[in-house]
Amino acid sequence: MNRRGFIQQAAIAGSWAAVGSTVASCATAAKGYADKHFQINMGYYRIPKLRLSMDRIVRETVGLRPFRAIGPRLESERLGNKTLVHNYGHGGSGWSLSWGSGMLARDEVMKTGVKQVAVLGAGTIGLTTARLLQDKGVEVTIYAKDVAPNITSSLATGTWSPSSRVCDPQKATPEFKAWWEKATALSFRAFQFQLGLNDIISWVDEYNVFNEAPSERPNSEIFADLPGMVPERIMLSKKEHPFKADYVSRRSNVMINIPTYLHKHMTDFLLFGGKVKIHEIKKLEDIDALPEKCVVNCMGLGAKAIFNDDHLTPVSGQLSCLIPQPEVTYKLNTKGASIISRKDGIYLGGNGIVGNWDTTPSREQTEKVVGILQKLMEDMRS
Ligand SMILES: Cc1cc2nc3c(=O)[nH]c(=O)nc-3n(C[C@H](O)[C@H](O)[C@H](O)COP(=O)(O)OP(=O)(O)OC[C@H]3O[C@@H](n4cnc5c(N)ncnc54)[C@H](O)[C@@H]3O)c2cc1C
Repeated sequence: MNRRGFIQQAAIAGSWAAVGSTVASCATAAKGYADKHFQINMGYYRIPKLRLSMDRIVRETVGLRPFRAIGPRLESERLGNKTLVHNYGHGGSGWSLSWGSGMLARDEVMKTGVKQVAVLGAGTIGLTTARLLQDKGVEVTIYAKDVAPNITSSLATGTWSPSSRVCDPQKATPEFKAWWEKATALSFRAFQFQLGLNDIISWVDEYNVFNEAPSERPNSEIFADLPGMVPERIMLSKKEHPFKADYVSRRSNVMINIPTYLHKHMTDFLLFGGKVKIHEIKKLEDIDALPEKCVVNCMGLGAKAIFNDDHLTPVSGQLSCLIPQPEVTYKLNTKGASIISRKDGIYLGGNGIVGNWDTTPSREQTEKVVGILQKLMEDMRS
């Protein structure tokens, strides 16, 4: 079939984002909790200092978040004699939404009754969707141009952030909001069942350290934290923290240890009989040529060229990785920089450039972030 015929036969079968249901929260939001790091004698939370210098930076990367202002593409389409289920464009929230988005995509696949399914892409979205399909007895082959660590998912920080650059709240529809709430709740629950599995998921302390009062982003309340998930952020008094800053808050948050996490789920996928084929899709006809009658498109930013998706744009983010420091287990956000402590390293980040396709790391950006955080550490009470 040629490209024109293929496109002509395409008919949107229905947006699976239009789930229209509200989320039942798992529990009521915690109002406060005991904390083993609160040192009664010292009078403030014990926060180990980061050893920061340019020679401790072992890796710099730039990843491209697959952003769509209207939200991810979540719809089914007929392409020739195939059903194509789209599941891409999750912006800065792909890790967080992966399980919920995968479950809702799986519902679409199950409606077709097809038992051999192709998943395009081996990032967090593709791998999760593939595993979820296997759990329902579906035989899955993943077709991907690249696998970890040469994928965007390997270049992320991996924190629970389901509303981070997931859409422009002013452009999101009520249907998308309903989908987002459902996907967020499903994902959060799925992550909690992965605690204790060789630390692929952990809970960490997260600090916001600012000199100015935090300003609300426009429409941020539309995609605010849902109740019953991460505990509320608590403002700390000067006595309760060691930072030289006027506005310091703290909460617990979920961290995904990306390398071990991807390894575990890929291993599980293979153990369940899944196949992975390194295969680049260059045009729509390449999808038509696949033997499977149902295809789930989890190609992230790679979907842009194949589907002429004008909505999809990169938002680049640079991370600079420090040598791991086992006592440093927290996450911290301050003006212009952030610290994300994982098992495989301590990641320094903090930027997002809309429309930037350049994945060359900038030494200046690393120096800037290191400088901001060095000052913050120097000013800290020890
Ligand atoms: C710096 C940074 C920090 C981030 N932090 C967080 C965070 O803290 N929390 C969070 O939830 N999210 C975060 N994200 C966002 C998250 O990483 C992405 O939303 C997510 O990785 C997207 O996953 P994906 O599977 O859709 O895409 P990818 O990981 O890009 O995977 C796409 C797959 O499709 C394949 N593919 C692409 N094109 C083709 C083709 N033509 N043919 C065949 N295969 C193809 C690729 O090879 C790959 O296997 C961050 C992103 C960045 C860059």
